[in-house]
Formats: sequence, C-alpha cells, structure tokens
Amino acid sequence: MTVGVNEALKPLVLIVEDEPPQAELLRYNLERDGFRTALAGDGEEALLLADEEAPDLVILDWMLPLLSGIEVCRRLRRKSSSAKLPIIMLTARGVESDRIRGLDSGADDYLVKPFSPKELLARVRAVLRRSDAANSDDTIEYGGVSIDIGTHKVIRDSENVHLGPTEFRLLRVLLERPGHVFSREQLLDRAWGRDIYLETRTVDVHIRRLRQSLNKHGAPDLIRTVRGFGYAIDTDKD
Ligand code: CA
Repeated sequence: MTVGVNEALKPLVLIVEDEPPQAELLRYNLERDGFRTALAGDGEEALLLADEEAPDLVILDWMLPLLSGIEVCRRLRRKSSSAKLPIIMLTARGVESDRIRGLDSGADDYLVKPFSPKELLARVRAVLRRSDAANSDDTIEYGGVSIDIGTHKVIRDSENVHLGPTEFRLLRVLLERPGHVFSREQLLDRAWGRDIYLETRTVDVHIRRLRQSLNKHGAPDLIRTVRGFGYAIDTDKD
C-alpha cells in the first residue's frame, strides 16, 4: 500500500457536530484551506475518533447527542494522550457562551454560531500555532527515554542516543502517545515530510533502525510490534 505523504501531512481536524449542514460547512471550509477532516456526529463517537485518529485539533459543538461537548472536552482533558489536544468549542449565540468564555470547559477557544469561514479558519490557525509553540520547547519523557523537541537531543538512561531525522520524528510520534498502537499508515502520516509516495514497509525499516539505536546499551526494547498492523512504545509490552 502507498500513501500520498504530502496529502497525509496536512493537519487533521476532528469535527464533532450533529447537524449535517453545519458539519458539511465546516468540512468544506477546512478542506478547502488545506486541512484533512474526520467527522463525529455525537459525543461517544467523538471520544472514539479522538483516540483512533489522533487529530491535531478538535472542533467541538456544545450541544450533542449522548454526551455534551463539555463532557467530551472534560474526558479528553483527563486522558494523557489528549490532555493537550487543541479544542475549539462551538456554541449558539447567547446560550452557554458565558460559561465557555469562562473556560470552564477546558477548551482552548470558542466560536459563537453563526460564524464566518474566515473567522473559523483564523481561530483554527491561531490555536494550532499556540499549540505548536507550546510543544516546541517541550521535553517528552517516557520509559527512561527523553527527547528534546527543540534541540532533537535524545537520552536513554543517561546515555546520548544518536538518531537520524526520520527516526527522531518516529520516536516523537510514538512518545507523544505512550501505549497507543499506531498503524503504519498513521506513522507515515505523522513522521514523513517529503512530497513522495512511500510504501508502508518503509516504516518497518525505520522502526528497525530506531530500535537498534535505542537499544544499543542493552536496554530493554520499548517498541511493541503489532503484527500486520503497526507499532507502539510501551513499557508494559510483554
Ligand atoms: Ca448540535
């Protein structure tokens, strides 16, 4: 299988909206502006897709079937894998906007319906920029491995680990969601930046190199292989 890498690298926005015309409007405008989209029509599906698709941002309607937008937001914040996921809440004018303004919800920003496509896209870009800036001077640590996003320095159990740029990006993707199994396609989406078509087995090659570098000093293997599917980083792999 091949994946269009350039296409896949576009940020993925999860749209959570139960009203089809509103959902379609959001999808149309986001895709026209270069985003990929996924759509959930209720709160339960939103949580499921946030976990499966690992979106870069969520646009979350307040009034939803099954679980309210507020409850979805709270649950996303409680999970370590989505605690920092950028969320923009949508609300009807004059209804609950005061509470959203108070940021009770844990959302990063909010938009009052009806909004213009221009306003929507400006907010989406602003929230993504803030989130990138907040992440860029971060260190991510898990299982004795620590990576510095700004300097690309990788340390495992106090030893420096030297990784190629692709292996670094792969490790970063895996470390951002410990325990989560990424499919090869998802890893291609997130770790490759060139405008070429790659086969999914390319991922296997780079995972092998990443393993060799990380395990050089005889440390236990942190990368879990899920045969025929993909990979996770996990200290409880066995
Ligand atoms: Ca709604």
